[in-house]
Amino acid sequence: MSDADKAVPVSLVRHGRIGLLCIDHPPVNALSVATVAGLDAKVAAFEADSSLDGLLIWCAGRTFVAGGDIAQFDAPDFTAAPYNRILARIEASERLVVAVLHGTALGGGLELALACHYRVAVPGTRVGLPEIKLGLLPGSLGSQRLPRACGADLALDLMLSGRMLDAEAALAAGIVDALVPGEPLAAGLHFLEGLLEGLAPPRRLSTLSAPVAGLPPDFFARALQRATQERARYPAAAAIVQAVEAAATLPFAEGEAVEAALLAACVASPESRALRHLFFAERQAARVPGLPSGITPRALHTAGVVGAGTMGRRIAMSLADAGLPVTLVEASGAALAEGLASVRAQYEASAAAGWLQPDQVARRMGLIAGTLDYGALAGCELVIEAVVEDMALKQQVCARLGQTCKPGAIIATNTSTLDVEVLAEACGRPHDFAGLHFRNPANGGRLIEVVRGSATAPDVLMTAMHLARRLGKVAVVTGVCFGFIGNRMAEAYLRESEFLLMEGVSPARLDAVMQAYGMAMGPCRMLDLAGIDTGARIVLEYGKAGGLPPDPAYRAVVRTLFMLGRLGCKSGAGYYRYPDGEPVADPETERICAALGRAHGIARRTDMTDAEIIERLIFPLINEAAKLLEEGVACRPADIDMVWTAGYGFPDYLGGPVWQADSIGLPRVKAGLERYARLRGNPYDYWDISPLLAALAQSGQRLSDWSAPPPAAEAPADAAAPGGQAQGHAPISHAPISFPPDSRSVQSRIQSGPKPPQSVH
Ligand code: NAD
Repeated sequence: MSDADKAVPVSLVRHGRIGLLCIDHPPVNALSVATVAGLDAKVAAFEADSSLDGLLIWCAGRTFVAGGDIAQFDAPDFTAAPYNRILARIEASERLVVAVLHGTALGGGLELALACHYRVAVPGTRVGLPEIKLGLLPGSLGSQRLPRACGADLALDLMLSGRMLDAEAALAAGIVDALVPGEPLAAGLHFLEGLLEGLAPPRRLSTLSAPVAGLPPDFFARALQRATQERARYPAAAAIVQAVEAAATLPFAEGEAVEAALLAACVASPESRALRHLFFAERQAARVPGLPSGITPRALHTAGVVGAGTMGRRIAMSLADAGLPVTLVEASGAALAEGLASVRAQYEASAAAGWLQPDQVARRMGLIAGTLDYGALAGCELVIEAVVEDMALKQQVCARLGQTCKPGAIIATNTSTLDVEVLAEACGRPHDFAGLHFRNPANGGRLIEVVRGSATAPDVLMTAMHLARRLGKVAVVTGVCFGFIGNRMAEAYLRESEFLLMEGVSPARLDAVMQAYGMAMGPCRMLDLAGIDTGARIVLEYGKAGGLPPDPAYRAVVRTLFMLGRLGCKSGAGYYRYPDGEPVADPETERICAALGRAHGIARRTDMTDAEIIERLIFPLINEAAKLLEEGVACRPADIDMVWTAGYGFPDYLGGPVWQADSIGLPRVKAGLERYARLRGNPYDYWDISPLLAALAQSGQRLSDWSAPPPAAEAPADAAAPGGQAQGHAPISHAPISFPPDSRSVQSRIQSGPKPPQSVH
């Protein structure tokens, strides 16, 4: 075989009277321009060779075709028609065509298999049409053929959920015709030879009708109503219902036209564009800029967690869920007992809900060993501190970990905002140190911000990225600054939230408006869940580090609630009251906010529109994102979108704050920031516009497309991204960014204000 032949990802060879069409396009045999062209050519070669009695379509490597090239949807002239025409020719063949599936047959891969006359799968295969996750419907007649194979009900369920079926379930549903043990090529060949010997006729799904027996007459009307009401922000859901209804009620050709029109609308929809952007953002985030090549992660078989509070107990659960034995260290027996009891209660609740087997509860509890003895951490390969957000305490804890942990062990902090460089120094082994900023709840949240200190060793970074994947999370690398990417931006968002409260907007309205905008949770509810104490300590600690503006009204609400002992859900009252665990609007909070507004000379507003509330929160968020990029804290615009959609409840169908900035238009964002600077005044520079944002608004460029000037030496690709392509990246700046020198006098009023209602150890 020549080199040129090897480059073509599709081949056709003869095996007796059978043609073997093989797709060999590592790593997952994804459909690409070259694959589709190769398929076209080899199907034509089969058509032209009348000496072949049948065709077996199979894939080399670890999987059948596992999807399509998502970038193709961005091509201005994208259409599925050429691929669909190939599938139509396969189905129209008078000679038998069989697909043998292994690995995962997804999207365009399953659609290829559905065009074949018969499909067989080796055990362990999984099939699905997950296009909805990208805001699309299956566009190569999957919406028309799958209902004809397995019935409208199951087809709709599979397409709306995007879930996969295993081989046994696919067989029971009629999606595959047989399970064939063994190696896919030999097993498929054996099956096809049997069909040929038995003179089995071609079976074409397009000629069948979709089984609808047993479905109520208003099945599709109700499904459409659910899709439009419950998933109004995901238009692909309604499109899928309409396409499946067409499959069940119209001739195939008419259904094909319906699917094509709906697909075109979905591809062009802002929601699908945003979801596709996040698909790429997630893959890009796995590539760590500036890592030397050949780095391997450190061994990680045992872990420790210090602090069994809100975060520590759940970090321990997340590690145990991934099979890691965890040593959980607390400062007091009571806190340890409470933490462990809470872990058990959560596992038992999961078992009661059917998510865990009883023996899994016992096994996971058995992986978590609680102790008051730091010495028990000596054998751990990773220790994450999750003690109270207090710099002095964390410095002590980190110093102790530096002495206790064995050489080569990684020491990490879950701090929300504190200076990771200071903690790295305190531990005495800054090269072994990094931030691992889990979001609350740590065992459920998708995001970990991996904070890279100036001395963090490359293999520590790589181990952190591997760990995140092992825990089923998305890791985004960030540089050091107050709050990293997520909480630094959240600070601007929360600052404005509190000013709005002091201007007379109620917590309930503020939350309702932001939830209607798409946020998973409004800012007040978010702080109540996280703990007002943690939220307030962030502000107080930032004050101690000299970072706060000299504005006595700055985050005055959270500091006051803290001082009053209103710690949020955990104490039964924060922004809301929680008489039965559920939030109830509390007039007392509004009274507190009004009093603070008066005390700080903030005018009450009665004309506040929902639009202003949204802009007052979202524009500063975008402005801060631009500042993080120009400072080099975030290496890529898409990383910011990943952080906010995976960790901060920003709606994925809006693509993240940066993507949203471009959708709104940077000139409009800039004009809005200027308008609010005039309206609110700008004595503390809150509304100062990022020079980067201003420049891009001026030049008409997109913030999403911005990239930092290339580094002097091109960084090699990170081994943490399987199958990743080498890419150039901007280095993360390690210049001190937002931790100003200690200037305690500046904020003496804020710092000395609230008194913590409980000991901080
Ligand atoms: P928490 O107050 O609920 O828990 C802190 C725990 O640390 C307490 O159980 C306390 O007894 C224990 N502790 C204190 N001193 C200790 C010591 N010397 N040794 C061992 N244990 C000690 O606080 P939290 O909300 O879990 O926050 C912990 C850390 O996680 C903070 O840095 C916080 O900023 C960060 N964080 C919190 C959230 C959140 O939503 N709560 C989210 C992300 C990150």
